[in-house]
Amino acid sequence: MSQSGEYRRSAGDRCLESCPELRKRVLECPACHRKGYRPDLPVRLGENFKAQNIRQYFQPMETDELGFCMTCSRLRARKHL
Ligand SMILES: [Zn+2]
Repeated sequence: MSQSGEYRRSAGDRCLESCPELRKRVLECPACHRKGYRPDLPVRLGENFKAQNIRQYFQPMETDELGFCMTCSRLRARKHL
C-alpha cells in the first residue's frame, strides 16, 4: 500500500471516530477489510456536509447480501465451484 493510501485510510478512520453517525454509512468487507460507503449515500447527509467527507476518504463499495465486497464475493463464489 502506498504512503498516500495509508494516510487516506487513517484520516478516514479518524473521520469515522469523530462522526459515529457516518459509521452506519461505511461498510467494511469482513474478508479484505476494505472500507467503502454505501452506494445509496445521499449527496447531503446531516449537517456540515458530512457525506462529502465520506466521499473524500472512501470509495463507493457495493456488497453482496453477506456484506462482502463484490471482489471477495466473486472470489468466494469461484472457490465454492
Ligand atoms: Zn473484500
